Amino acid sequence: MCICYVRMIGTGAAWGMPDLMCKCKVCRSSFFKDKRTESGILLCSGNTRLLIDVGRGVIKNLINFEYTSQILDDIIYPIDGICISHGHTDHYCETEAVCQAYRRLQRANGVLPSANKKVTLYSSQYTWSHAVEKSCGHLQQPSTLRNRPPMLENIIIEHKKKFRHGDIEVTPLNVIHSSVADGAFAFLIGMRNKKILYTGDFTPSSPQWDWKEALPFDKRDALDLVIIEANSWNSMPETGHSSVEEDIKMLDKFHPKIAVLTHISHEMKKTHEEIEIALKETYDRDYQIIVAYDGLRLNF
Ligand SMILES: [Zn+2]
Ligand SMILES: [Zn+2]
Ligand SMILES: [Zn+2]
Repeated sequence: MCICYVRMIGTGAAWGMPDLMCKCKVCRSSFFKDKRTESGILLCSGNTRLLIDVGRGVIKNLINFEYTSQILDDIIYPIDGICISHGHTDHYCETEAVCQAYRRLQRANGVLPSANKKVTLYSSQYTWSHAVEKSCGHLQQPSTLRNRPPMLENIIIEHKKKFRHGDIEVTPLNVIHSSVADGAFAFLIGMRNKKILYTGDFTPSSPQWDWKEALPFDKRDALDLVIIEANSWNSMPETGHSSVEEDIKMLDKFHPKIAVLTHISHEMKKTHEEIEIALKETYDRDYQIIVAYDGLRLNF
């Protein structure tokens, strides 16, 4: 079977939605699309499963959206690769849980301890040494007590240097986000002749980064999908994040087939339904704009 899809696992910003101790209309909404966990996207192509970011709540959602049905079908597609866009905890803090689960899966399948495979984690040098290594560095060490090899292998990736994980091709692109998260990347992804851009968290107004230089796509529809950070509705440059207002300007240049707005934070101050209505009223475009929600699946 030829499987190719993208699953939005977590579509909120840090701490997700609803927010602790908040009584606003979004936090009080009982609609499932207003419940957002932190960042996580699952790329599925053939038997390859690659996670892009893995924030709080992503593991629980992966079980609910993906693996409950796979268990019923008695087929498990293991996640053995993780790309981390930058070193904020809402993008990497559940990394260890993926490594541990992959190890348990191999044990359940009778793989000998000495033959256990590792999860490959792709990140910039800065993201690894300033953030992920602090909580996951020990996973690179073998367990001498149990005679098991390491659970994790970190591969340092660089701007514009393409790499492959199974069926999926990834090109990291520098983005500017936060002074405490240098080495942030967007990812240009190739899956089954489809081109997907995931921006991660980024500052669109940064003079140090030019979309055109990084992504020389002048043709309309050259990108099948752009998954773009939409932290707020109006521009808030001091936050280091992007907004719907700024995203639309960029999307108009790219003219992708589909745009998905994600990383929606409390600053949006709108329910899922209100964002959809406001988009229609303010930004009626001839390409499709989708407001992400946890569990959204885009098939190719
Ligand atoms: Zn974030
Ligand atoms: Zn609230
Ligand atoms: Zn961030």
